[in-house]
Amino acid sequence: MSNGIEIEGMVFDAGAQTARTATDRMVAPELIEDDLALDRSLRPKRLDDYLGQTRVKESLSILIQAARQRGECMDHVLFSGPPGLGKTTLATVVANELGANIRTTSGPAIARPGDLAAILTNLEEGDVLFIDEIHRLNRQVEEVLYPALEDYVLDIVVGKGPAARSIRLDLPKFTLVGATTRTGLLTGPLRDRFGIVFRLDYYTPEELSDIVKRSSGILDVSIDEEGALEIARRSRGTPRLANRLLKRVRDWAQVRGSGSIDEDTAAQALSFFEVDSLGLDSLDNKILELLCVSFGGRPVGLSTLSSALAEDPDTVEDVYEPYLIQQGLIMRTPKGRQATDRAFEHMGVNRP
Ligand code: ADP
Repeated sequence: MSNGIEIEGMVFDAGAQTARTATDRMVAPELIEDDLALDRSLRPKRLDDYLGQTRVKESLSILIQAARQRGECMDHVLFSGPPGLGKTTLATVVANELGANIRTTSGPAIARPGDLAAILTNLEEGDVLFIDEIHRLNRQVEEVLYPALEDYVLDIVVGKGPAARSIRLDLPKFTLVGATTRTGLLTGPLRDRFGIVFRLDYYTPEELSDIVKRSSGILDVSIDEEGALEIARRSRGTPRLANRLLKRVRDWAQVRGSGSIDEDTAAQALSFFEVDSLGLDSLDNKILELLCVSFGGRPVGLSTLSSALAEDPDTVEDVYEPYLIQQGLIMRTPKGRQATDRAFEHMGVNRP
């Protein structure tokens, strides 16, 4: 590309002003490769650095203190909520506050009961075991987990056929921290084994603004209140996105601005990267344009909408629509997807 600029893996065509990431959308809440280096430095380590989610923090703080005072393990806990809200971070924070080691794995990584047995037998007394995407554990693996969670024992079968016998091994006491984006997919028995389930909610712009300011301090970028709030407003309630957008604004401010971030700089930079005032990217806006303008506000079936976007219907339903629905911009009606008044207002067009 002759007239484009390249900043940390993203390519911008100066003429067309379009931004693309190699791996994903700029506003995808999932972890993308680009976030990794940033994640390590910005991830809060103690409860005091973990901003927002006040009720969750207060309850956790009591559980942690009580467990420490008794010199016992904490109850097993489950964190649920959309990607990027801080479930993994909380698991690390819990371990740090308990003064315990953390072992990290994920549901899909534990393919067979033997894999789980190996993890459990390698734990040490008091350890925190973090299983991300715990709803993706398979049933046989779950069966091994139940007695481990309840009685800290492992039942294993030795030998085959008539000679097979079951032996029971004692395990060190540990705390399981589970994380899931889909509580609905968790089996009843597994859910019941958690003493407490914490639901993480989307953050308010004010909470995200505090996170942006904390991150700016760590990244050594100068930012004012309004600059932080502007980034926060466009971050879709998600700390991971707030940090990602901050990094992009920092790049833009360095190349095109004075290096420090105020409201104007943040707004200009994020418009350049096609993240609008509600945190919508070009694809979200394309959906709104189709519903408001091309289809004139009439309900549109998922398959028609997907064809018009040249996207797979599952992707439209699972990836693009939830935020638009949550923001009250579109509705799912029996006749199809329909734009709301707020969508027309956002698009600046009158309802036909
Ligand atoms: P999840 O596991 O829910 O997908 P993570 O725990 O990986 O989310 O959080 C994503 C990033 O967002 C982390 O690297 C961290 O820097 C930041 N983050 C999340 N929650 C908070 C918070 N409450 N305060 C400050 N930063 C946070």
